[in-house]
Amino acid sequence: MGANIIDGNAIAREVRAELRTRTESLEKCGIKPGLAVIIVGDDPASTIYVRNKVKACSEVGIHSEVHNFPKDAEQDEVQRCIRELNESPLIHGILVQLPLPQHFEANRVMTSIAVEKDVDGFHLCNVGALVTGNTVFSPCTPYGVMIMLNKNHIPIEGKHAVMVGRSNIVGKPMALMLLAKGATVTICSSKTRDLATHTKSADILVVATGIPRMISVGMVKPGATVVDVGINRLPDGKLVGDVDFESVKEKAGFITPVPGGVGPMTITMLLCNTIEAAERAHDVTK
Ligand code: NDP
Repeated sequence: MGANIIDGNAIAREVRAELRTRTESLEKCGIKPGLAVIIVGDDPASTIYVRNKVKACSEVGIHSEVHNFPKDAEQDEVQRCIRELNESPLIHGILVQLPLPQHFEANRVMTSIAVEKDVDGFHLCNVGALVTGNTVFSPCTPYGVMIMLNKNHIPIEGKHAVMVGRSNIVGKPMALMLLAKGATVTICSSKTRDLATHTKSADILVVATGIPRMISVGMVKPGATVVDVGINRLPDGKLVGDVDFESVKEKAGFITPVPGGVGPMTITMLLCNTIEAAERAHDVTK
């Protein structure tokens, strides 16, 4: 029997409808949540991501503004802009589109964002808060995955979760969130020996490597939940994940497709964090 397909688009629509209700309640109190996006350089992928974020904001009633800097901008100039946004009453969330150019110290830029406006959750204080179980803002991609698991009633406590990939934006926070929900977590990387031994014992397998279709059917336990974070464009233009979807869907219990899986959830959780920031700033409860 084939896996249940976890429809990221449908869950994102459902969550965005809930968010719309929250912005309407804020509007009644004269509050409009605001997101500022900072983009340095003209990387085409980043430009598309930013455009999508702006569009998504307007759909749920969030004010958004984009601050563009040329790729040879000085770090100080960008940090000055962040300091102004930290003080702005119209802005509740600030996001710096990554990657930054080589001459930037990304950590210094991130830590110049006020913690209470760090809706991406990448400020070192927010990272520390996540590690100690006092989450302020959950990083958007793993947060979206947790919502997908929750909406599908997939149990986490006591299960073995295997995270393939250990990046700061996906792998590590994902592992921490699963750990916080009581999973026994294994984190794998490019240095892991005999990857399949680990993946085959996973009840929940989350993959974020950026290697197209690297998880084959033989690497998956029957009935497992398989979450594919990867987004890879093949030379023929096709978008695929890090999991060989066609074969793995015949063995898994649940699986996320690419596209239409984790992707739509990432932006949705950014909207959610921005609304959360506005509610906290004005002491409004959900
Ligand atoms: P990174 O390149 O930062 O990290 C990739 C991770 O994969 C590294 O930890 C690396 O290990 C590990 N890895 C590489 N090869 C192997 C291997 N053979 N076996 C096991 N682990 C391996 O990528 P990101 O985490 O930023 O992104 C991963 C993927 O997710 C990309 O396709 C990206 O486009 C996608 N993505 C999707 C998002 C969404 O919204 N759906 C959001 C963010 C990312 P090591 O540390 O040892 O090098």
